[in-house]
Amino acid sequence: MNFRIGIGYDSHRLAEGRMLVLGGVNIPFEKGLLGHSDGDVLCHAIVDAIIGAMGVGDIGRHFPDTDTKWKDYSSIRLLRHVVELVHSEGLKIVWIDSVIMAERPKLASHISLMKDTISQAGILPATINIKAKTNEGMGFIGCGEGIAAQAVCLLMQA
Ligand code: MG
Repeated sequence: MNFRIGIGYDSHRLAEGRMLVLGGVNIPFEKGLLGHSDGDVLCHAIVDAIIGAMGVGDIGRHFPDTDTKWKDYSSIRLLRHVVELVHSEGLKIVWIDSVIMAERPKLASHISLMKDTISQAGILPATINIKAKTNEGMGFIGCGEGIAAQAVCLLMQA
């Protein structure tokens, strides 16, 4: 069998006056993530992990922030584009694991809804794991300056 793995990482700055969107879910919080799109670091990390496993560059190449088409675009829709690309290449997603790194807010209670929302992009809840952790008060995550996420994706020929 032909397997391929990819890794993805993303981070965005927290700012007032923005909705916090993680895994496609609006999460009540006093700040949100700044970005050309909705700043959804989890979806962006997953997109980059999938693109990495396909070996076709990175998120910036497929969805350039210089293109107004992607401005404030839902990251779940970006994810759906990439999943369609996977299928069009005769590949399938075997497994995605991911971790969101945020000092606040607490995210554990939102993970089930994130998985359900990500399934709208064609990624089955049974093929994805999402974890959340703090950064123990250290660095840009720990001081609440931003939120980051990492993801890995395993693809195989369908
Ligand atoms: Mg991003």
